[in-house]
Amino acid sequence: MAIILDGKALAKKIRENLKYEVDSLKEKGIYPKLAVIMVGDDSSSKIYVRNKSRACEEIGIAYEEFLLDENIEMKELLELIDNLNNREDVGGILLQSPIPKHLDINEAIKAISPEKDVDGFHPINIGKLVLNQNGYISCTPYGIIRLLEEYNIEIEGKNAVVIGRSNIVGKPMMLSLLNKNATVTICHTKTKNLSEITKNADIIVCAIGHPKYIKDYFVKDGAVVIDVGINRDPETGKITGDVDFEEVSKKASYITPVPGGVGPMTIAMLMVNVVKHYNM
Ligand code: NAD
Repeated sequence: MAIILDGKALAKKIRENLKYEVDSLKEKGIYPKLAVIMVGDDSSSKIYVRNKSRACEEIGIAYEEFLLDENIEMKELLELIDNLNNREDVGGILLQSPIPKHLDINEAIKAISPEKDVDGFHPINIGKLVLNQNGYISCTPYGIIRLLEEYNIEIEGKNAVVIGRSNIVGKPMMLSLLNKNATVTICHTKTKNLSEITKNADIIVCAIGHPKYIKDYFVKDGAVVIDVGINRDPETGKITGDVDFEEVSKKASYITPVPGGVGPMTIAMLMVNVVKHYNM
């Protein structure tokens, strides 16, 4: 039976440590602040945004939310971003996705100052990750690396397979593992014989958004399995990952649960990134 990678516990520890850091910043007269922009009222986004505001509150980071009407024009969104870029009191800016289809997400992300891009999605920060330079790393991959390190799981020289190639998870995950000297394969919807590839992996990171897609025959004995997926199980209505935990946990050496694995780490690393702004 696999050892559970307890993201919830590690995230709590990270938040506790950050609280001390934030307290000492405040003693120096520095008051960290995160600004979150949400356009429209996507129900999942509301939950994510609430979790982020709670984490800020717990750590002592000031939090300001901007709820924009779903019919706003691109110009208004860019004006708000510009305003926040110029505000001295704001250290981090986060644009909650998804945003309505008529708005250009790439243009909006590009408008955020790279120094305040705590999500690590700006082309400059993605470029720094490609070059293995110091910048903001997007929170989910950053949290996964931190979790692997916490459990002393070796990355260097390992065969790692990332399933999913999104800009926010799959691609930065691939780069983060490469920067830790893993041999990385990245798979996606056009990949042929996925299970033949994943069967050779020492580390599997799955971020596809299909409940319980990864079965035991995808996984070799002793592999480390990281489940990024957050899906609603069509049968039970419960939150479930991309990995069939019941089957795969019998074969893997380490596995993340859903919930309680990658999700809390993502939020913790967002907090790390906000505090990092004040140490850059
Ligand atoms: P996305 O939809 O942008 O990308 C999904 C990727 O998976 C695509 O690149 C696609 O090619 C690939 N894919 C889909 N089906 C596949 C299949 N059958 N075989 C191989 N590849 C396949 O999604 P995303 O934003 O990267 O998110 C993925 C999942 O992770 C979602 O469930 C999302 O809710 C979750 N998520 C969780 C966190 C967290 O903090 N835990 C953060 C971000 C996303």
